[in-house]
Amino acid sequence: MAEYDFNAPRLFIDSPLRKEARIGLDRGQANYLLNVLRMKDGESVLIFNGQDGEWRAEVAVEGRKSADLVCAERTREQTPQPDLVYAFAPLKHARLDYMVQKAVEMGAGILQPVITRRTQSTRVNLERMRSNAIEAAEQCGILTIPEVREEENLERFLKDLEQDRVLVFCDEDAAIANPVDALAKLGNKRSGVAVIVGPEGGFTDQERALVAAHERCVRVSLGPRILRADTAAVAALAIVQSVLGDWN
Ligand code: SAM
Repeated sequence: MAEYDFNAPRLFIDSPLRKEARIGLDRGQANYLLNVLRMKDGESVLIFNGQDGEWRAEVAVEGRKSADLVCAERTREQTPQPDLVYAFAPLKHARLDYMVQKAVEMGAGILQPVITRRTQSTRVNLERMRSNAIEAAEQCGILTIPEVREEENLERFLKDLEQDRVLVFCDEDAAIANPVDALAKLGNKRSGVAVIVGPEGGFTDQERALVAAHERCVRVSLGPRILRADTAAVAALAIVQSVLGDWN
């Protein structure tokens, strides 16, 4: 693992970052640094905006409730958006918050809510998803901000999916077999990967056939137990990252 300062607080800042840039913090950010972290004038935080890499910035206290940040030095070059789509049937609030954060921690670059017949909540709060994605990126050293897409029904999602993108289909009805072997067979012949996990009620047979019809669909079992959708998210993304992604 590259040498990385996991102790310094990290903040997503939605402004251009360059040497000596002075950035005014919003009330929430100022409160977090001054009152929650009790940071003093001149102390440093790490900031990123998803485009200009990561910077060490110094706190310039402006008063009890306000502060600026002054960019001191770039600590890491910008990394590209991971080409990993995580498609999922939206869950109810706290479970969805959890699943979004875990998908981001596991390296998903695009979060795609997919409405299926048995999806629990068809109305998705994209802003809430975005702030969960940012929070996860701040906490685990990610430099990009995952793209949170508008919800789509399953047919639309499959229609829009690039034909040459591998679609890892986590199917609770798949015969139990080692998913690592199934993915390893792909070798390097792939451009981009998508993972799809169904709702708590599972996929219907008709949906199963639709997904399996995708040209580069790889149907995988996640073992002999039925996992809850948010558990399946972490399990599936761990296997994909270790065989096809940035864990190897
Ligand atoms: N209602 C379904 C049932 O009882 O068969 C279970 C659905 S499960 C809670 C939610 C989703 O997680 C599934 O649609 C699938 O995508 C994934 N999943 C859960 N367990 C799995 C397993 N053992 N193998 C493959 N996928 C699994």
